[in-house]
Amino acid sequence: MSRILEELESAGIAFSMDYEDLIAYCKDFNPLHQLKLLKKLTPALPEVVVFPKSVDEVSKVLKIANSLGIPVYVFGGASGVIDSATPYEGGIALSTLGLDWIEIEEENRIATCGAGVVGGRLEKILNHRGFSLRHIPQSLYCSTVGGWVATASSGQFSTGYGNIEDLIVSLKVVLPNGEILEERKTPRRAGVDLKRLFVGSEGLFGVIAEVTMKFFELPKESVKLSFEYKSIESALEDAKKLLSLKPALMRIFDDEETLRYFDSEAFSTIVIFEGDGAREKGKIARSISKGREVEGYADIWLEKRFDVSDISKIGVLGFVFDTIEVSCF
Ligand SMILES: Cc1cc2nc3c(=O)[nH]c(=O)nc-3n(C[C@H](O)[C@H](O)[C@H](O)COP(=O)(O)OP(=O)(O)OC[C@H]3O[C@@H](n4cnc5c(N)ncnc54)[C@H](O)[C@@H]3O)c2cc1C
Repeated sequence: MSRILEELESAGIAFSMDYEDLIAYCKDFNPLHQLKLLKKLTPALPEVVVFPKSVDEVSKVLKIANSLGIPVYVFGGASGVIDSATPYEGGIALSTLGLDWIEIEEENRIATCGAGVVGGRLEKILNHRGFSLRHIPQSLYCSTVGGWVATASSGQFSTGYGNIEDLIVSLKVVLPNGEILEERKTPRRAGVDLKRLFVGSEGLFGVIAEVTMKFFELPKESVKLSFEYKSIESALEDAKKLLSLKPALMRIFDDEETLRYFDSEAFSTIVIFEGDGAREKGKIARSISKGREVEGYADIWLEKRFDVSDISKIGVLGFVFDTIEVSCF
């Protein structure tokens, strides 16, 4: 450890061994960890937290760690839920939050950001200029762009705009030996698409240090529709038809969730069409849907979509809650 600290100091890289920092970087948002923390227990502790501010500094940290055989755990917003960054073997927790630069190229509709840029900040800056990422995970305000890539993130508007792998243009990555890998910023390129290797890599193949992402004009037209059904099967049947109209967002709610969100005893679907032609698509959707059109569910959901206060109250009572995502035909 003393060798590491000496090396970090001589490289001028900020680090901390304060207990508060070690605790802040001891876990992600995994529900079992939350329960442990309430009992004043920690799942594991790193020995030191480093805060690199540039790609070169990340490279130096990894070179030092590699030469001394010290494990490194990468942290963005720590909003991940699958316990993948817990420093079970001690060592270094590397925070990407100091990698916080944002360069916006309006003409090319791309933004190049340090991996530690928090999504909500980037989205707000883009909104001020009339644009949007359209990558809106529920954790927008507590997750980072590097974290999105590392976890193969999906957002509320991914039905229409794609998941993170469809939205990244290029990456700058620091490999475990400190080597810097940089892709050209082109829409497509010949050869193996290296960035795909890092989508969902959860920090295993290196530190994603910089991400170039697409963004879009804020939609001028938007049509929000809500339908109710008697069964989940009829909601699904309808969804298949509605998907052919390429909605920006579509969600089906079972009876429990319809009651919780919309105070109604039914199954339901909300659909949002965006951009040119949205009104026309809305008309077609109304004509092909077999559901009963209801007013305002989409607006209610949009209003509540970042609010996790209900479930936050359950944790302190000692309950564990979790969400899982299932893909199937
Ligand atoms: C309330 C809530 C709502 C959520 N909603 C969504 C949602 O709608 N969609 C969704 O996809 N997820 C969601 N999540 C999960 C989580 O927010 C995402 O997985 C997010 O992408 C994690 O980003 P982060 O910056 O917090 O990463 P972290 O939690 O810090 O890290 C996650 C993993 O990625 C690695 N990592 C992080 N940054 C880098 C980097 N720069 N280079 C290499 N590896 C790195 C870490 O080592 C770890 O393995 C939600 C979580 C919560 C708590």
